[in-house]
Amino acid sequence: MEQPIVFTDIPVKLNAEEVIKKLHLHNQNVQIEDMVKELVDDVSRIARPKAIYRVAYIENKKDDSVEIGGITFTSHVLRLNLDKVERVFPYVATCGKELDAFKPDDSDVMKSFCLDLMKRLVVLSAVDFLTARMKQRHELGQMSHMNPGSLTDWPITQQKQLFALFEDIEGQIGVLLSESCVMRPLKSVSGIYFPTEARFESCQLCPREKCIGRRAPYSPEIAETYSHK
Ligand code: SF4
Repeated sequence: MEQPIVFTDIPVKLNAEEVIKKLHLHNQNVQIEDMVKELVDDVSRIARPKAIYRVAYIENKKDDSVEIGGITFTSHVLRLNLDKVERVFPYVATCGKELDAFKPDDSDVMKSFCLDLMKRLVVLSAVDFLTARMKQRHELGQMSHMNPGSLTDWPITQQKQLFALFEDIEGQIGVLLSESCVMRPLKSVSGIYFPTEARFESCQLCPREKCIGRRAPYSPEIAETYSHK
């Protein structure tokens, strides 16, 4: 197995203005803005985001499954996306146990809401850091990714296969996979990056309405190209 690359010193670059803007809190009141600034200071001091990835090779392709690093993944969409691909980059990134354990002194609802957003921004910035390093190290061009559980075609239970591609993820970056395939800390993400000519997002195949996490519009035309023929 190729040695995984582990990042435990990812810088935290949170910006109070960005958080206030994302939460539409501008011109609300000075106390809320002060609370956000204080929380940004706390989170920046406490957070230790981490990430891990490895290079893995595709060894076998069947109708609706693909073998990566000796592990079989079952997904029609993943199989199609990897049709012309030989090398992939499985990964896990997290906001870190330190931030996950942080509980503000008071149980203010708005504060909890802001903290939740900041944890999300921290894990997203860990993914950005990981992909930038990955691209630089392996001289990669355009990449897309898929995450177990983002489509019914690739269910969350396939997290077990993804975690089996690594040894001791908990020991390396502090992410534990529960029996029900939920990652702890909750603000963690996992998936597989792969090279593509055209950008792929699972959201293009997902008709769910009013999803705040949507990264690309639903496209019935693209969804059709991924349907079983
Ligand atoms: S639209 Fe939302 S639920 Fe659907 S794949 Fe995208 S992020 Fe997931």
